[in-house]
Amino acid sequence: MKRKVLGHDLKGIVVQKLADRGVLLTDIAHLVYTMQLPYNPDLTMDTCLSHIEAVLAKREMQHAILIGIELDEMAENKWLSEPLQSIIESDDPLFGCDETLAAGACAGYGSIAFTTFGYLDKQKVGVIQKLDSRPAEEVHTFLDDLIAAIAAAACGRVAHHVRDDEEGQYLKETRVS
Ligand code: MG
Repeated sequence: MKRKVLGHDLKGIVVQKLADRGVLLTDIAHLVYTMQLPYNPDLTMDTCLSHIEAVLAKREMQHAILIGIELDEMAENKWLSEPLQSIIESDDPLFGCDETLAAGACAGYGSIAFTTFGYLDKQKVGVIQKLDSRPAEEVHTFLDDLIAAIAAAACGRVAHHVRDDEEGQYLKETRVS
């Protein structure tokens, strides 16, 4: 069977979908920068953006974003059947599938991603706060968690890559020639 997904620029589609829902990659980069600056004083926004790009290149993350945004949009258009329509539209705090989907998508990025996701989910900083205080007709039940997941995964990447670079530099400096 031919997979229709072949030939699609999934990353491009995801970036466009995020923008359509009001989230730019620079918004997410601000989260990563804020979270990682205390540990990496030389961190730049460009570095944060490049790690976000890498996270968005992962198929599992792309699929989670696509399905979450799709459900938000369906709820916004009142196309879901009950009781799911009311649960997602009202962002029921006991729903939990939004967090589960997002947490699963950043699970491969280690403990820093895991703990950062929990923090961003609870503290609702930056663009996550903006999504949370949405106009009544907008539904971002899945999107806020997905943004936290993208940022958290990028934080995990930043932390490990900075250490890799430091260790590489150390080995270079201490190599006996
Ligand atoms: Mg949510």
